[in-house]
Amino acid sequence: MESLIQISKINDFLFCPRSLYFHSVYESFSDATYHASPQARGRLNHRTVDEGTYGPDGRYLQGEEVYSERYGLVGKIDLFDKETKTLIERKSNVKMVHQGYRFQLYAQYFSLSEAGFPVERLVIRSLDDNRRYEVPLPEGDELYAFEGTLDRMRAFDVADAPLEKNTAKCRGCIYRTLCRPEGSIMEQSYAHTA
Ligand code: SF4
Repeated sequence: MESLIQISKINDFLFCPRSLYFHSVYESFSDATYHASPQARGRLNHRTVDEGTYGPDGRYLQGEEVYSERYGLVGKIDLFDKETKTLIERKSNVKMVHQGYRFQLYAQYFSLSEAGFPVERLVIRSLDDNRRYEVPLPEGDELYAFEGTLDRMRAFDVADAPLEKNTAKCRGCIYRTLCRPEGSIMEQSYAHTA
C-alpha cells in the first residue's frame, strides 16, 4: 500500500515543499519548541476542539480522527456540523483562502465522506475577525490539482527541493531555524538587492 499522508502536512507542502521534510523532523520534538505565536494560537483552537468543549452534545463531531483509503490520507477534522452537514476548519486569522487551506479541507472531506458522513458544505472560519469563507466542494481542475499535489508529496525528496527564493517567506517560516539560519537569509537578501 502507498504511504499515508498526514492531512496536516498538505498546507505545509504547498507553502514550501521543503517544509514537508522539516515538519517530519520537528514531529519528534515537543510542539512548544517550534510553534511561533500565531501557530501556537492555532494549536489552542484545535485543543479546544480535541477536548470537546465546543457546542451542544450530539450536533458536532469534534477533532475526530479520519482516514481515506481512496487517497491514502490520515488526520483529524476540526468540526463537522451534522445538522447543516458542514465541515468547518477554524483558523486564528485568515487573510485569504490559500490553496493549502482548501486542500486540507478536501482531504478531511474525502475522509469523512468515506466514513459515511454526508458533507455538503465546506467552510473556513477566521476567529479573530469572525469571518466565514465558503469553499466549493472539490471537482474539475481543483480536484485534479489536489490529486496532483498528493502525487508530488509522495514523490518528494528533500535532496531535490531547492531553498525558497523568496527570503521574506523564509523569515516567516516556522522551520527556518533548521532549514536556513537567519544569517544565510540575510546574506541572501543582500545578494538579491546588490
Ligand atoms: S525556511 Fe524557506 S526554504 Fe526552508 S522550509 Fe521554510 S520557506 Fe522553505
